[in-house]
Amino acid sequence: MQDAITKLLWDTTPLYPSPASAELEVDFVAAATEAEHFRRDYLGKTAELDAAGLLQAIIAYEILQERVGKPQMYAHLLFAADSEDDTNKALSQRAAEFGNLMARQLLFFELEIMAIPDETFASLSADERLANYRHYLASVRRFRAHTLPEREEQLLKRKDLTGADAFSRLFDELSASFSYRMTIDGEEREFTGEELLGFLHHPDPALRELAFATFLKRHEENSIVYSAVFNDITLDHSQELELRGYESPMEPTNVGNEIEAPVVERLMAVSEANYSLARDYFRFKAGLLKLPRLKNTDIYAPVGETGRSYTFAEAKELVLAAYRSFNPDYGPIIAAFFDERRIDVLPRPGKGGGAFCMGMTPTLPPYVLLNFTGNLRDVATLAHELGHGLHFVLAGSQTMLNYHAPLPLAETASVFGEMLLTRYLLENETDPAVKTSLLCAKIEDIIATTFRQNVLTRFEERLHLERREGLLTSNRICSLWWEENDKLYGDAVEMIDPYRWGWSYISHFIHSRFYCYSYTFAELLVLSLYRNYLNEGAAFIPRYEAILKSGAALSPADTAALAGIDLLAPDFWQKGYDFLRDLIDELKKLAI
Ligand SMILES: [Zn+2]
Repeated sequence: MQDAITKLLWDTTPLYPSPASAELEVDFVAAATEAEHFRRDYLGKTAELDAAGLLQAIIAYEILQERVGKPQMYAHLLFAADSEDDTNKALSQRAAEFGNLMARQLLFFELEIMAIPDETFASLSADERLANYRHYLASVRRFRAHTLPEREEQLLKRKDLTGADAFSRLFDELSASFSYRMTIDGEEREFTGEELLGFLHHPDPALRELAFATFLKRHEENSIVYSAVFNDITLDHSQELELRGYESPMEPTNVGNEIEAPVVERLMAVSEANYSLARDYFRFKAGLLKLPRLKNTDIYAPVGETGRSYTFAEAKELVLAAYRSFNPDYGPIIAAFFDERRIDVLPRPGKGGGAFCMGMTPTLPPYVLLNFTGNLRDVATLAHELGHGLHFVLAGSQTMLNYHAPLPLAETASVFGEMLLTRYLLENETDPAVKTSLLCAKIEDIIATTFRQNVLTRFEERLHLERREGLLTSNRICSLWWEENDKLYGDAVEMIDPYRWGWSYISHFIHSRFYCYSYTFAELLVLSLYRNYLNEGAAFIPRYEAILKSGAALSPADTAALAGIDLLAPDFWQKGYDFLRDLIDELKKLAI
């Protein structure tokens, strides 16, 4: 039994034997020393380098980034697995301070790349020796108009530790510290937040509502902290916008994503124009559940095949089979996550919520964190995170600066992996009731990654714009949240009252400004890719793989073009929603 539980914990010893190990200490010290050397060698000299010199500097910088990253990755994993452990807390804080110091030491390098005169830069960029870094260099220079002198950049970074980063840490620790008491089957028991959210997939409507309300009410009880965190994060952002001369709250994200604001606006407007598709589905689902109208706690309720649950071993086999059926070569890559115990499976107190896959450098293996409770959604999450894992492994042939896929493409392999799982499950199922439930789950998933993320993005946008006018009361934040959700749900879904606090647990708002539209972007891109796969069959696979392998070596638009996708085509986004409409029609035919 003990052994079985151990197998569901990840094994971080290939990184370091323990948090107290000499190896970890050595790496902290060595990375700091190398950063000093790099600074000594290149400070004030980068802009004068010729192509050969710049290449050498970039390679040294990349090696250094890998060195600096490894202890931080380790600390992050330990803290995510148990944020209540004092050793993990101390290590995580140390790694954050270390990372901050290293970033301050090294930020001169990119500032000096920005300072290269245009003409010199044009000839450097054309030099074949720098071909591997052409996109990197161009992306650095995109921030040129928004960058401050080194000393100021250093000070801002330094104050982040006690500013935005500190609030972000408080948010994580507070949220992970909650345990909840709820009565189920006449017995009061303790649950983690993730377990409560897992009940949204339970067949009993009263239990779904009770679990979600219990979860949200705890957040309401901590409204002082949550509204302070949200206010401070947004104020911090608006000050940064002002200092750096950005015009809108979303602009830094768009510049980083290499996507023009009008393209993002079109993505959002097309999503809004299709909200009626979601409402149409919600009304249909109410009929399937024999309810007059859905509450928002009914959206993920199981249909037909009620309450089916999966063991982790079953989930593993399904996900492996789904990836193998697409491309047998992916089998060993996916299997290695299980064989090498790079997945932390079960929810427990002190463990971070949600799920993630962490890939840090091309030479370190990625790790996956789950909060597996056994429903179909959890199986899909496993497929999702292993999609990220596959992406990291395939991009491992890139060098460090080209390794991390740009944000808009970061969710491509993950969302595609979920699609593969659904297709595999549908193909191996003959029972129309089960097929119905699978199709519902897929449609709900698409709704969650497109429309819901659009709601989140609109909310985040209003939050930042209103914060410019002054402090936001928690009541006001609740109203903004409610209004944006209401635009999606309309009269098709009744929101339960505690859902006013639904904003307070979404960590993307805290950790990464305007991350959420990446999900909408990725889902619609994947629907197009998937349609191409259905049309082209096996010929599609190498084109798809080219996207994953390219990491960050190209811009998002150039990367998508590798698979024949034109992100800028005016009807591109609508095609994704047309695919969703087809799925809903398919469901309606099946369920009649
Ligand atoms: Zn993801």
